[in-house]
Amino acid sequence: MPSYDANNVFAKILRGEFSAYKVYEDDKVLAFLDIMPQAAGHTLVVPKAAARNFLDVEPDDLAYLIKITQKIAKAANSVFAADGINIFQFNEPAAGQTVFHLHFHVIPRKEGVPLKPPASVREDPAILADQAARLAAALKT
Ligand code: AMP
Repeated sequence: MPSYDANNVFAKILRGEFSAYKVYEDDKVLAFLDIMPQAAGHTLVVPKAAARNFLDVEPDDLAYLIKITQKIAKAANSVFAADGINIFQFNEPAAGQTVFHLHFHVIPRKEGVPLKPPASVREDPAILADQAARLAAALKT
């Protein structure tokens, strides 16, 4: 497996070089909206520590990341009045990974509504800003 490349887009978001619609942040984890969501509320949860994917992350970092992923999923479930939630995570191009900094996808689902294909439609910035604000507010309570 290739080593971690700090030029990936999520590393740039973590360093503040690219903006993001942040919904949660602590000293170890950042969560932000996917700008090409497969459904409303599609959120990405990433560790601040450098890790290419599930295969090289430090186990303690992974344990904390999954704990926060559950917290985001519960908030998204409520804010987006979901009927279900998908948690996706991909490792290496053969498995669908396109950004090489570990991330979990949290995707609220509505009964009978299919997912959009990955990274297919860029969401309106005003909609993302509104969704991020609502999710961030729910995560503060
Ligand atoms: P994966 O296929 O698991 O590597 O997923 C990468 C995800 O990152 C896709 O769902 C993209 O829509 C999303 N994405 C790419 N660039 C950005 C960005 N700048 N901000 C937020 N999400 C992004």
